[in-house]
Amino acid sequence: MKKELVKTKILQKREVAPNIFEFIIDADNALRESKAGQFIHIKCGDGVYLRRPISICELFENKLRFLFEVKGEGTRELAENEQGDFLDILGPLGIGFTTNKTYQTPVVIGGGIGIYPLLQVAKEVNPITILGFRNKSLITLEDDFKKVSKDVIITTDDGSYGRKGLVTDSLCEILSKKTVDAIFVCGPMPMIKAVRKIALEHNIFCEVSLEERMACGIGACLCCATKVKSPVVGEDYTYFHVCKAGPVFDAKEVMLDE
Ligand SMILES: Cc1cc2nc3c(=O)[nH]c(=O)nc-3n(C[C@H](O)[C@H](O)[C@H](O)COP(=O)(O)OP(=O)(O)OC[C@H]3O[C@@H](n4cnc5c(N)ncnc54)[C@H](O)[C@@H]3O)c2cc1C
Repeated sequence: MKKELVKTKILQKREVAPNIFEFIIDADNALRESKAGQFIHIKCGDGVYLRRPISICELFENKLRFLFEVKGEGTRELAENEQGDFLDILGPLGIGFTTNKTYQTPVVIGGGIGIYPLLQVAKEVNPITILGFRNKSLITLEDDFKKVSKDVIITTDDGSYGRKGLVTDSLCEILSKKTVDAIFVCGPMPMIKAVRKIALEHNIFCEVSLEERMACGIGACLCCATKVKSPVVGEDYTYFHVCKAGPVFDAKEVMLDE
């Protein structure tokens, strides 16, 4: 996969929820090769040295859409960019989701800002989608997912919208009625671990996207190492860089609890 450094224009900027911004940028460049689940590494501004990783949310008409929550210095500076400004981006980076196979009943599960890389997945596999949020004010992309999913279930922790409860409650309900043959998940680590456990128990193909903290984004530093089953005979486990071998991993290969 070719990754390049591109300077590309912000075509549209919107605050879609408190502190959550959507940027649509020109992808008539190396970014047009981006795949669902890959990410871009963005230079946020002059005051922040390290680039920040942000998922590719959607590709359309040579445009790339991404959404991010303002967390700290990097994303705060990124949010100060305006329509017409140019962003310095390294990408596309990482290994994405396996969307090029035929699935009968795939399920996409996202939590919080982890829903963003899943829109492109949903566009490609037409899943049942379960999206979990802390409360109603943080819900984004509901209509976008509805356009490309067989069904969309929204859960909130406080019951302010959709079903009150966890995404895993809705997943278990689906599993009691249907045979699911693939699960694609991204979100907070406890959610990923819980979904992975259910997928392994039911022997369902499952891919998890780990949005771990990372620094270089290209496998040169050791910031984002994660434990995986070793491909070497006689070796139980090894460590892979999330930025290079991931962020998407087969749930059977990545060792999150072990
Ligand atoms: C592959 C990948 C894809 C991502 N995609 C998106 C996306 O599409 N949208 C989005 O909003 N965010 C995404 N993130 C998370 C985003 O990169 C971080 O929120 C951002 O780097 C924070 O930078 P900052 O300088 O604003 O905050 P910092 O000052 O670096 O951190 C502020 C706070 O956020 C926490 N934090 C920083 N990075 C992470 C992380 N990766 N996971 C959990 N907590 C973190 C810190 O511990 C701290 O409490 C992604 C991360 C990865 C690795």
